[in-house]
Amino acid sequence: MEVKVVERGGESLTLELKGVNLSLANALRRHAINEVPVMAVEEVLVMENSSVVSNEVLVHRISLIPFVTDLDNYRLPEECDCNNRLGCERCVVRFSLKAAAADEVVTVYSRDMVRESGTEVVRPYSGDVPIVKLAPGQAIELELYVRLGKGSRHAKWQPGIATVYEAGPGSRRLYVESFGFLPPERIIVEAAKAIERELGGLEAAMGEAMRGG
Ligand SMILES: [Zn+2]
Repeated sequence: MEVKVVERGGESLTLELKGVNLSLANALRRHAINEVPVMAVEEVLVMENSSVVSNEVLVHRISLIPFVTDLDNYRLPEECDCNNRLGCERCVVRFSLKAAAADEVVTVYSRDMVRESGTEVVRPYSGDVPIVKLAPGQAIELELYVRLGKGSRHAKWQPGIATVYEAGPGSRRLYVESFGFLPPERIIVEAAKAIERELGGLEAAMGEAMRGG
């Protein structure tokens, strides 16, 4: 088995996979999309919203913003032992978003989110995502809870896109493009780890079944 970087640019990565069969290449692709945890706003507390945009639309827009993900310091809420619905410092990063328009129209951007807890790594991937326009006299005040999640649960946690294609006899390539949560290399490594964990779980379950039978 041999893996070679064929091309690396921006947020994309093309790998050549030699001696990797199609089902394993496809498993990598699927796990990259569905099983690598990344961070997005999961819960929003709306303290004030006098804009013309409804709370639901506001929350939806915010939840689709990719956050640069700190995988080394955070856990999935379902794997955290805090058992706290609001989470703890290991499974949630809090942001606030507060803006008001005085005399002129104000556009609120993702860069206006202020981190209230957590590591510096975690931030909106792009600061230039427009969230809402406020007319004079309007204001918003929100509390945002950023958590790890998986693409298999909701598309907003999909780390990027990935495809497998043939590049000549015996040569298979995997193309990954990140949405900004994680570098594409990390997405692939984490996808491989996810497969490994699944196989480990399967092995343990098989062992138990054999002993039980
Ligand atoms: Zn926790």
